[in-house]
Amino acid sequence: MYKLIDGKAVSASVKESIRKELAELKETKGLTAGLAVIIVGEDPASKVYVRNKKLACEACGFESFEYALPADTTQEELLNLINKLNNDDKVDGILCQLPLPKHLDEKLVINNISPKKDVDAFHPENVGQIMIGDYNYLPCTPAGVMELIASTGVEISGKECVVVGRSNIVGKPMAMLLLHQSGTVTICHSRTKDLAECCRRADILVAAVGVPNLITGDMVKEGAVVIDVGMNRLDNGKLCGDVEFETAKEKASYITPVPGGVGPMTIAMLMKNTLTSAKTKLK
Ligand code: NDP
Repeated sequence: MYKLIDGKAVSASVKESIRKELAELKETKGLTAGLAVIIVGEDPASKVYVRNKKLACEACGFESFEYALPADTTQEELLNLINKLNNDDKVDGILCQLPLPKHLDEKLVINNISPKKDVDAFHPENVGQIMIGDYNYLPCTPAGVMELIASTGVEISGKECVVVGRSNIVGKPMAMLLLHQSGTVTICHSRTKDLAECCRRADILVAAVGVPNLITGDMVKEGAVVIDVGMNRLDNGKLCGDVEFETAKEKASYITPVPGGVGPMTIAMLMKNTLTSAKTKLK
């Protein structure tokens, strides 16, 4: 019988502990924390994420600064804003909502955010630090997945871990975090020869693909922990993961739902990184 991993509940408890910690530091040391979110253009999904981030900031007691820029913003204008925020003491974290309109260079934007305020952990300096296991920030989605696995009480050490997807923002850092916890990690991608066979080996299976219902129950090992990062919008408007929940739950010991699994954790981890950044002002 599977157990549902309740991402909303874990996320709420992470945010509550952040709120408490900041409130105490505010009272004892006058600490404040602020997150700046930049959104360029009118992407509806991005707008929802930005709104959720603002709500999470309010819940944690952070100041939030929102910069909604028109779709025709130039590269120079965007970099100027980032530079201004890099030098603003009230801003501890800077997040530029991706994807950006095509005429803007995402790599350049990421590289211009100060690594100290890079609460998404996308800057090459932070990525390198994650690689060597000596980091200030963890990328939000993989870090959220680690919290969800921890909430099950299942040990990662020595387990077969399979990550499906190798993107820079989810798959690769996910694999690295599982490796840091001594999992035996396999990364699958679109060229993997026998995806089903690889997945069936997994004690811990993380799907971060972007293909609705790709992972079906017959690809899941009996008793596996199944984490579904996928967020796919179907034609009927419904949100759907990369895992076929109804069949996978018959095999899994623990499984995340979509929505209400990994999604809420990503924002909670963003809050955690912002507090980490703010606390460096105390040193
Ligand atoms: P990308 O498109 O950047 O990467 C997808 C990966 O999946 C690639 O490595 C690709 O392989 C692999 N892939 C594609 N098709 C297959 C297939 N048929 N079999 C095996 N592997 C395949 O996506 P992201 O990593 O950015 O996101 C993945 C999913 O997670 C999306 O649904 C996204 O919406 C969601 N997401 C959710 C978040 C949350 O907060 N819950 C946050 C971020 C993402 P290859 O490299 O060979 O092309």
